[in-house]
Amino acid sequence: MVIIRGFFRKFVFSYYNKMIDSKKLGINSTCVHVGEVKDKQFKGAISPIYMSTSYAFDQVDVKRYPRYFNTPNQEALCRKIAALEHTEDALIFTSGMAAISTALLTFLKKGDHVLIQQVIYGGTYNLIAKEFEKYGIEYTYTESDKFQDFEPLLRSNTKIIYIETPSNPLLTITDMKAISGLAKKRGIITMIDNTFASPINQTPADFGIDIVIHSATKYMGGHSDISAGVVAASKEHIELIWETGINLGGNLSDFTVWMLERSLKTLNLRVREQTKNAQVLAEYLEANSSIKKVHYPGLKSHPKHAIAASQMHGFGAMMSFELKEGIDAMEFQNSLQFIKPSLSLAGVESTILSPAQTTHALLSEKERQSRGISDRLIRFSVGIEEPVDLIADIEQALLKINKVDL
Ligand SMILES: *Cc1c(COP(=O)(O)O)cnc(C)c1O
Repeated sequence: MVIIRGFFRKFVFSYYNKMIDSKKLGINSTCVHVGEVKDKQFKGAISPIYMSTSYAFDQVDVKRYPRYFNTPNQEALCRKIAALEHTEDALIFTSGMAAISTALLTFLKKGDHVLIQQVIYGGTYNLIAKEFEKYGIEYTYTESDKFQDFEPLLRSNTKIIYIETPSNPLLTITDMKAISGLAKKRGIITMIDNTFASPINQTPADFGIDIVIHSATKYMGGHSDISAGVVAASKEHIELIWETGINLGGNLSDFTVWMLERSLKTLNLRVREQTKNAQVLAEYLEANSSIKKVHYPGLKSHPKHAIAASQMHGFGAMMSFELKEGIDAMEFQNSLQFIKPSLSLAGVESTILSPAQTTHALLSEKERQSRGISDRLIRFSVGIEEPVDLIADIEQALLKINKVDL
């Protein structure tokens, strides 16, 4: 009897969720409603948090355990993330790097080769540089983000092509459809770090990319207060990543899973507004005589603007710009009033950072120059503040510096 009831409940539950998931809800409805934990006991408006690390065997037909990535909150939120990324399934991790390392190590073994786009997140670069040799995994970096640079570097043992678009800090754009086409012909798995775009501005699965990864510490969290990572992919790929994931143990605590669910409810509202603001700011900066160059895929001057337009729903809220000669990046940064210098990005508050002094400080000046990262480059994460206020802050900072110069 208990078993039958259990089955019945499971059937009703899955039918209900299929109904919600298959309805093709609008983006805001998806953010708010898909993948909630229903509070059947008290009918509260939001998902209850299940902090339990131990679950009775007779109530469910799966063994629930936090590190099996299947507590009620984890399972429910995975449905929301999969719906946002247009994939069948997803997994939630304790950080972006836990998601990236688990996904890569799932598919790579001794003697395999991975082809990596030249410009990638520093943490991923370090993971590969410091750990892969230990495991006997081979890797090559492309010379640029150009599609033509990928094919000649493929080997018979290439298992994965790993890309990041838009990339950090120069916002280069990689052609996702071309890359997935090249990989599919040869049975190679494609992975993308989709952090900078967020699922609101880019859904790589629609372009045939197999595995989509995020540092949810960034846009998905959005309030600079949680660390998390996600992987979204087909059921088949997620099953394999799950098998490696339970060995590596990068599951997120259920309290933070719940925080992430709360954040995702406003993902579209936040990112849409930030993206709109970024376009205004990019155009303002491009027209400003104190700025030498602006890197933003939404500008017509961006060399890959057309590709970005064909594969992104919006151009995102990350950009970088180079101050003209004679303006010191640190001085500019310190003269801003509320645009804060910050190592992280994607919060509702606008932040800036000097890559040469922080994220890329370990590279030699020559290496930085060869990658187009000058000492006067500023990375800008645009928040939800009104553009007029952001512009006023930049104006007063430039004015202050110019006065100092005189
Ligand atoms: C921050 C970041 C990561 C790493 O995420 P953590 O949550 O810090 O582990 C990976 N990729 C990109 C593009 C990032 O910005």
